[in-house]
Amino acid sequence: MALIVHKYGGTSMGSPERIKNVARRIAKWRAAGHQIVVVPSAMSGETNRLLGIAREISKTPNERELDMIASTGEQVSVGLLAIALLDIGVPARSYTGWQVPIKTDNAYTKARIHSIDDKRVRQDLDAGKVVIITGFQGVDDDGNITTLGRGGSDTSAVAVAAALNAQECLIYTDVDGVYTTDPRVVAEARRLKVVSFEEMLEMASLGSKVLQIRSVEFAGKYKVRTRVLSSLTDPLMSLDEEMKSGTLITFEEDENMEQAVISGIAFNRDEAKITVLGVPDRPGIAYQILGAIADANIEVDMIIQNQGMGGTTDFSFTVHRNDFDKAMATLNGTVKAAIGAREINGATNVCKVSAVGIGMRSHVGIASLMFKTLSEEGINIQMISTSEIKISVILEDKYMELAVRALHSAFGLDKKA
Ligand code: ASP
Ligand code: MG
Repeated sequence: MALIVHKYGGTSMGSPERIKNVARRIAKWRAAGHQIVVVPSAMSGETNRLLGIAREISKTPNERELDMIASTGEQVSVGLLAIALLDIGVPARSYTGWQVPIKTDNAYTKARIHSIDDKRVRQDLDAGKVVIITGFQGVDDDGNITTLGRGGSDTSAVAVAAALNAQECLIYTDVDGVYTTDPRVVAEARRLKVVSFEEMLEMASLGSKVLQIRSVEFAGKYKVRTRVLSSLTDPLMSLDEEMKSGTLITFEEDENMEQAVISGIAFNRDEAKITVLGVPDRPGIAYQILGAIADANIEVDMIIQNQGMGGTTDFSFTVHRNDFDKAMATLNGTVKAAIGAREINGATNVCKVSAVGIGMRSHVGIASLMFKTLSEEGINIQMISTSEIKISVILEDKYMELAVRALHSAFGLDKKA
């Protein structure tokens, strides 16, 4: 007997029929002798619908009240799932985050979990019940309802699994695992049977949308064995078969049997690039530029500084496309004159493409294969950044799909015919 946490995404909870299938799957797991805690998302589209009503009323809705509203999507889900389980004779009980309680800080719409009280949950589990807990939310020290940011149910599930010391956290979703790249861009993309936690973290932060990045951070911090798998399979398939499906996020390298040098190609269209030209080459310039950007609450991704002509340098960095106008306005406001820059220009027609793999640590020639592949396709690289296990390039966005396809094939990731 083991304690297992199941997480079901919005699509999996998307209709009464699907909720009944979720209940059948859970009943199967329980019948095999396991203790099950379930963390569902709101029914698909529901969180958008709820937030949309608020935005029809106000362009700048109060964030405490937004959390009050958004949290109800999951409250409906847990109740419906409990009803579905009770209806097929499985004892079950639902709780919202504040009832558990799942304690968070008070950063509305992006709260972080501080602690989870396991007392009620354990009592119910010991009494043979399936426990269902709302994803995406908690309560702050003053009793206000908070939410964890969009896609936050993944993080709730992994956090609950950590708090209960669960054997595994199964994230059921509408895809059957983590792929070498997005199958909508590359038809030859393959499902990874295992992926290391570090690779998953890079892929999540580089634009793969399978798991919320914070849930991956949580899984790493508390060593939660996490598996991504499909909820759209036959709910009564054998447990053995089910535990072999999907993608397991591993921590030990020897569990990683695929041993490909590169595990995946990630991409992100939400990039924008800003270049400050002709800045005097003296100490403090990077700080003056990026300090102003940070003060404007804008996150910076890649940074490059180049020696220019006559004692000047050129300084480039990337930001999220949504922050581009604000970043340009910030620099043109006071910074440009203060540092004596010649010109500031920017582009939003860029994208980031990355190759990720822990095999990079022990293999040479990865970067050169990447650059060779892009050059053979006639694609110009605008910026490069690397870490121990990834290489990212900034390209003109019209080349994104071509670049992803070419790299996927060059690194031997295409599925065998
Ligand atoms: N329902 C929330 C959202 O749509 C949380 C989640 O589904 O993970 O973002
Ligand atoms: Mg999700």
